[in-house]
Amino acid sequence: MMKAAVVHAYDRPLAIEEVPIPRPGPEQVLVRIEASGLCHTDIHAARGEWPVKPALPFIPGHEGVGVVEELGAGNRHGLEVGMRVALPWLGYACGDCRYCNSGWETLCPSQVNTGYGMNGGFAEYAVGFARHVVRVPDDVDPRDAAPLTCAGVTTYKAVKVSEAGPSSLIAVFGAGGLGHMAIQYARTIGGSVVAVDVNGARLETAKELGAEHLVNAAEEDPIAAIQRLGGADAAISTAVTPKAFEQALGSLARGGTLVCVGLPAQNDLVVPIFQTVLGGLTVRGSIVGTHHELEEVFELHRRGHTRVLRAQRPLDDVNEAFAEVLDGSAPAPRMVFDLQHEVSTPAEGRASTLESA
Ligand SMILES: [Zn+2]
Ligand SMILES: [Zn+2]
Repeated sequence: MMKAAVVHAYDRPLAIEEVPIPRPGPEQVLVRIEASGLCHTDIHAARGEWPVKPALPFIPGHEGVGVVEELGAGNRHGLEVGMRVALPWLGYACGDCRYCNSGWETLCPSQVNTGYGMNGGFAEYAVGFARHVVRVPDDVDPRDAAPLTCAGVTTYKAVKVSEAGPSSLIAVFGAGGLGHMAIQYARTIGGSVVAVDVNGARLETAKELGAEHLVNAAEEDPIAAIQRLGGADAAISTAVTPKAFEQALGSLARGGTLVCVGLPAQNDLVVPIFQTVLGGLTVRGSIVGTHHELEEVFELHRRGHTRVLRAQRPLDDVNEAFAEVLDGSAPAPRMVFDLQHEVSTPAEGRASTLESA
């Protein structure tokens, strides 16, 4: 048996319970989870807030990282017992469709998502498809690898598709779990970053991570503030309210691109046609990243390009952690369930601490 956080009803808290350890089927691996990040998507999933709801009961979590303990029959895809792997949102893709064969496996219509269509990482063990779990370099801390598995690769991809480059002004709306990573990838490609949030502590963190301009949207109009800087060549919205997406669109310079990454429970974004046509604006969506892009994210982290700002919680505190994320009281941009240490820890990996280390 194993401990797991299980959703039985969309309107009830998750239940911490003992359930059977899953068995790996053909071309699957059983992973002993070491760390599992909490993404806002997990909260939407557990509450059934999206148009397509996960079937009940299920175990959320798509930032699980752990060690391969058992391999199913068939193709191992290069995996061996003892290897550390991540179980990303893209739990399965068909490998045969036009998307899978053109570098867009993330758009595969037959995909199955970890912690949504198949059980995820909020448990002591999880099963993944050998082809789709991603190797984690030995010298990357699993508690760092966990948030990189969704927040990292999602924002890395968003920066890529924004087509921003060196000297671009890149606006990052929302400086939380996704946003604090977006800021770092924008900096890595040589961009100048303006961070927008309504939380002063998150903005301080953004500054430590290299954001040159900060806008507290609770105190000033981000559109006016960013237009005073000349407008953003790219805006990446990781926020969870449609208003922030509209502000991000309004903050663009001519020819600019809005990349929608966050998934608010309210689904509508108003796009003014006149300004979009005359300004030559692009609005595009971006969902996670490919298997190879997650490998790139791990490599960038291993080489010191990124810092993961996180706080640990025991899995037993899953409902309290959900509440902390929802009310903005989480002590770090990302909460990570530490399956190896059953104690709460304060925020770790703060940029200021690391800079002096
Ligand atoms: Zn996620
Ligand atoms: Zn496919």
